[in-house]
Amino acid sequence: MSRRWLFADQLGPHFLDDRRQPVLLIESKAVFRRRVYHRQKAHLILSALRHRAAELGEQAIFLRTETYREALKQVREPLEVCHPTSRRALAFVRGLDRVTVLPARGYPTSLADFAEWADERRGALRMEAFYRFARQHHGVLVDGDEPVGGRWSLDVENREPPPKEGKLDVPPAPMPREDDIDAEVRADLDRWEREGIRFVGRDGPRRFPATGKEAKARLRHFLKHRLPAFGPYEDAMLSTDPWLAHSMLSSSFNLGLLDPMEAVRGAEQAYRTEAAPLPSVEGFIRQVLGWRDFIWHTYWYFDASWRNSNELGARGSLPAWWTELDADGVDARCLADVLAGVRDRAWVHHIPRLMVLGNYALQRGWRPAELVEWFHTRFIDGYEWVMTANVVGMSQYADLGRMTTKPYVAGGAYINRMSDYCGGCRYDPRKRLGENACPFTAGYWAFLSRNRDRIPSNARMARTMKQMDRLSDVDAVVDQERRRGAAAP
Ligand code: SF4
Repeated sequence: MSRRWLFADQLGPHFLDDRRQPVLLIESKAVFRRRVYHRQKAHLILSALRHRAAELGEQAIFLRTETYREALKQVREPLEVCHPTSRRALAFVRGLDRVTVLPARGYPTSLADFAEWADERRGALRMEAFYRFARQHHGVLVDGDEPVGGRWSLDVENREPPPKEGKLDVPPAPMPREDDIDAEVRADLDRWEREGIRFVGRDGPRRFPATGKEAKARLRHFLKHRLPAFGPYEDAMLSTDPWLAHSMLSSSFNLGLLDPMEAVRGAEQAYRTEAAPLPSVEGFIRQVLGWRDFIWHTYWYFDASWRNSNELGARGSLPAWWTELDADGVDARCLADVLAGVRDRAWVHHIPRLMVLGNYALQRGWRPAELVEWFHTRFIDGYEWVMTANVVGMSQYADLGRMTTKPYVAGGAYINRMSDYCGGCRYDPRKRLGENACPFTAGYWAFLSRNRDRIPSNARMARTMKQMDRLSDVDAVVDQERRRGAAAP
């Protein structure tokens, strides 16, 4: 059996053919010189890799070198590697002698099955259609060919605002306990910082699983205790409780610690044994089997130039307060809290990412490619494949809708409805002009005004544009937002 080279995001047993298969693991320091990562993200990657090496013991050759090439020179035998997760890494492994590249693992639908499905559609690809295909293809939550419960999506039942009590009544997710490996990682990162490798964000206790065992424990706990509340509150934001009932498993899937199909089957089982309501189960499965896989596949299906799409002509650079996660200088309560969440945890859930961070950047016209890099490096679960589709295709609408139907842009009213932020904010979500004008509300109209000729028209957009035409102060709002520029709101 050939030795299997596992990248640091291919760590689970599902990346091996046999539990005893010989393994190669490489820790490359150059990876951390190339980009400015969040400190907690760097910690998690190193911790997970070193934990896996310790688990495998003599079964693995574990090399710590500056570059992958240096490590590979030390290994003489033929190697196999599963399809890596970035174009750069794929080109690298394909260019190596002695290395056989195998199909991707860790994503329920294969690249070939996706390509066949997508080719049949030709035009714009939609997650909802893919999700339906994946449910049928994998036989998940279906009775015959029909969806369990009669509908493919129960999304409309999963849009509750946050609970008035300021907390969800769910037990907290189990947090990992740091060990000697984490202590060694922390000491190494401190030393690397002294040597000049730069990180951003605060160091903190490790909050995300670094081993398959920790990830499985979190999954089991989620399915039993948190899944029922996940669905209704999956879009809600609470200043007092950033986790709500989210699974906090995305980094475990993306490190390859946990097979997503195990989570999907577990959630389905929770429904079938009546332990969890269908809207929550369906919502979770849509995220994993539908959205996550769709995002993975669009990264490979569209060509490499997609990452640099900028059809709205956004030219602004990310300001320093944003890139450095300097939340203390931000008055807008929602943005300050979310940015502080990124700084302190390298994680906020999907709605703060999309409707606070992404929405703010879209309104300001910041370059999508810079934003891809920012989300990739600042988030615990960020990788190029995840963030290209989420940022370029979804939140920044930079390709004019190859995978979404409309730009995800919203004013303060949305944030007010779905969070508890606006009550304590110096801005007023209803105001678009003046001293206390909400930057999201003003930014919404300024964005639409700036891009009215670029955004493809549909019935919904036409209604919004008509509404804008009835506003007498749009030019003043545009002017106000131009003056605000990239300053922290
Ligand atoms: Fe955010 Fe505007 Fe609400 Fe303040 S008023 S919290 S800036 S949405």
